[in-house]
Amino acid sequence: MSGSARIAVCPGSYDPITNGHLDIIRRAAGLYDELVIAVVNHPVRKGGTLFDIEERLEFVRSATADLQNARAEPFDILIVEFARKVGAIAIVKGLRAISDFEYEFEMNQLNRRQAPDIESVYLMASEQYSFLRSSGVKELATFGGKIDNLVPDDVARRLKEELAR
Ligand code: ADP
Repeated sequence: MSGSARIAVCPGSYDPITNGHLDIIRRAAGLYDELVIAVVNHPVRKGGTLFDIEERLEFVRSATADLQNARAEPFDILIVEFARKVGAIAIVKGLRAISDFEYEFEMNQLNRRQAPDIESVYLMASEQYSFLRSSGVKELATFGGKIDNLVPDDVARRLKEELAR
């Protein structure tokens, strides 16, 4: 797209992507010309994720294949630096229950110091996803809970393979 395209990034570990993430991604894609879904590939977290970076990216890509203006990329630098690198004007995040607020408020202050020119934008979680997080889905999968309506089909299948006891 042209140099004046309004670009946003949607960062996360996406380990794995859930329907809650997808809700935020789809809504954000409707607000900006381009959306870069930034998947954390932090060396410190190596081995700390259930799925490696390639698989997490693949899940994100297949779940968002119909979104013409969205693409997924790995990142291993400060999110504000990554945002600047791709020419983004905003970092879009989802806000669930009150618990997300404190953390996000703190991160917002820190990021703003690093890059006052990049705005952080928060979309409220949709009601049906307000209690959905990747760690909860992994726990459910471990104990054979029903996860089909919480994550895309390929993700549900892989979670069961990796975790079901
Ligand atoms: P999680 O917190 O599920 O492990 P990430 O670290 O990948 O997920 O989070 C990436 C972003 O997605 C964060 O801004 C987080 O608040 C948001 N997010 C995650 N799950 C949801 C949800 N169910 N509804 C709205 N936003 C969400």
